[in-house]
Amino acid sequence: AGYGARVMVAEEYRMGGTCVIRGCVPKKLFVMGSHVHQEIEDAAGFGWSIGEVSFDWATLVANKDKEIARLERAYTTNVEKSGATVAKARAVLEDAHTLRLATGEKVTAKYILIATGGAPNHGPVIPGIEHVISSNEAFHLKELPKRIVIQGGGYIALEFAGIFAGYGSDVTVVYRGENILRGFDEDVRKHVRAEMEKRGITILTGCTVTKVDKHGKDFTSHLSGGSSIASDQVMFAIGRHPAVANLGLETAGVAINPANGGIQVDGWSKTSVDNIYAVGDVTHRFNLTPVAIREGHAFADTVFGKRPVQVDHATIPTAVFSQPEIGTVGLTEEEARAQFSHVDIYKT
Ligand code: NDP
Repeated sequence: AGYGARVMVAEEYRMGGTCVIRGCVPKKLFVMGSHVHQEIEDAAGFGWSIGEVSFDWATLVANKDKEIARLERAYTTNVEKSGATVAKARAVLEDAHTLRLATGEKVTAKYILIATGGAPNHGPVIPGIEHVISSNEAFHLKELPKRIVIQGGGYIALEFAGIFAGYGSDVTVVYRGENILRGFDEDVRKHVRAEMEKRGITILTGCTVTKVDKHGKDFTSHLSGGSSIASDQVMFAIGRHPAVANLGLETAGVAINPANGGIQVDGWSKTSVDNIYAVGDVTHRFNLTPVAIREGHAFADTVFGKRPVQVDHATIPTAVFSQPEIGTVGLTEEEARAQFSHVDIYKT
């Protein structure tokens, strides 16, 4: 719209996408709140005396919801202020230029941009999978679980492990590999694991959850090694998949990348159909908010701004809000050693 295009945004759920509604923003609020316990403990050393303290999960969730609702309104207002219209409806492609809205209305456009994001993976179907929550539900739990089992060793599993532990839950992380955070620098992986364990989080590696039983309000997670763990919640954070289903992609001729299940795009974020583009998690390139924003901006610059630009995905910084947090950019030590004959390592 900033380049003068006539724009309609179709959104079936809430404005803001994963990051605002059920990702980075509520997660960061939960992380911030989960630090407070430690700060209260540290306070005595700084001369503060704080009386009896208590924590109320329902208040946290309600206030987080209030903030997300405020942000959603702000995002909607900003989109409308830019001159775009918002249709609160699902849109399905009928051909390369036509979308059918859930309201029945048909809309045609010269260009179509798909940015439908992704959704949590459930993994292989195991007995009791229906008892398992994802990060989506973790944001709306009625009560703080006293004990929680979290399967996964990536961003979401570790961020939520830190969150729940900070509020006082007894947390067990179950990870299939040798050590958490595969793909990150070895020193970082070891350090984060050791610090999480110091905070009382149990990290079980080399195993998976094979079955979940429910007895009343309690769950038992059976592990591949034969042991089992009792808890009040079981959460899986084992990756996310692109939201490509029921969008009419086949009808319009938009191809899927067989390697990752996302919409296939070229360096300009153009799909197999000349006037249809896709950005963000639905393309399953680097599922990070700032990357999606950059891809969207590059699309607008290229197609409407007469400033063709391709996004450089080579060196993307990322942050994991585990406790301690991780910030990383560029090669890991292992990658550097594989590429160069001489490598200096500095640690502080
Ligand atoms: P990740 O890809 O980070 O981690 C998935 C984890 O689940 C890995 O440890 C993986 O193991 C494991 N796993 C995958 N499949 C299975 C399976 N079938 N059974 C058991 N374990 C399995 O995904 P997340 O779900 O944590 O997050 C999704 C994406 O969202 C991230 O990749 C990230 O891009 C984005 N995100 C970014 C954040 C940020 O920027 N701070 C925060 C949260 C999410 P293995 O390593 O062995 O493959």
